[in-house]
Amino acid sequence: DSVDLTRTLEELKSVVESKLATIKKFLREKRAQDEARHRAAGQNTEALHKTLKRMKNEIVTMQEKTRLLEEQVLRDPLTGVHNRRALDTRLQEEVHRFQRYGQIFSLLVIDLDRFKHVNDVYGHTTGDQCLKEVARRMSAVLRKSDFLARYGGEEFVVILPGIQKEAARCVAEKLRHCVEKTRFLYQGQRIPLTVSVGVSQIEAQEETPESVFQRADLALYEAKKQGRNKVVVDPETP
Ligand code: GH3
Ligand code: MG
Ligand code: MG
Repeated sequence: DSVDLTRTLEELKSVVESKLATIKKFLREKRAQDEARHRAAGQNTEALHKTLKRMKNEIVTMQEKTRLLEEQVLRDPLTGVHNRRALDTRLQEEVHRFQRYGQIFSLLVIDLDRFKHVNDVYGHTTGDQCLKEVARRMSAVLRKSDFLARYGGEEFVVILPGIQKEAARCVAEKLRHCVEKTRFLYQGQRIPLTVSVGVSQIEAQEETPESVFQRADLALYEAKKQGRNKVVVDPETP
């Protein structure tokens, strides 16, 4: 900090040397401290990396769990096809798509014929097995782009995007035929199982999911009236 100019050169040299020694000592200590800090930081970074990796894994697991839960919320537990909640959402989407882009769709309402009788005669568990099998077989007939849901009880609904009523009638006939020809066996005895189907197609801009459904449901009622194991297309549909 200060240099006394009255000192001799020797004195000055020794003062400078002693100061240099102090500086060197300080620098050594400083370097040791820095190295220690650096080591600690390295360990810290490693710990942070591990935590980050663990958190990333947890996020992936949570995402997978969320996906499965979302899937469960939209599935019917007995048959594994979509449930009523999923159907409501999808039907509303299809109506919006029609209103915005004019993409038509058809709707099938499918009801198992005299199913109460099946339960009464063969028991509820066998009835459940029948429902599962009917859903499985109908899924196999449908395309990936079609949407099959269990509406409730022994009723199913199919949305056929981009399909006109006449093509929808063919799909309905295929489903009806596929159930009719299946041999549902109970202790070697054949359970007679058939379905009736009502078909409608979206028509007008002002239609709602309920109005499309109602027309298919009325057609279904007509199919029951005509003796069951029948397909009836809504007459109002163009
Ligand atoms: P229809 O031909 O007029 O449709 O006669 P149906 O007997 O099928 O109609 P109804 O509405 O009188 O009875 C429906 C029956 O479906 C009542 C119930 O026993 C049965 N059912 C509804 N949900 C289930 C279910 O989850 N499991 C079983 N095993 N049976 C069910
Ligand atoms: Mg019913
Ligand atoms: Mg029924």
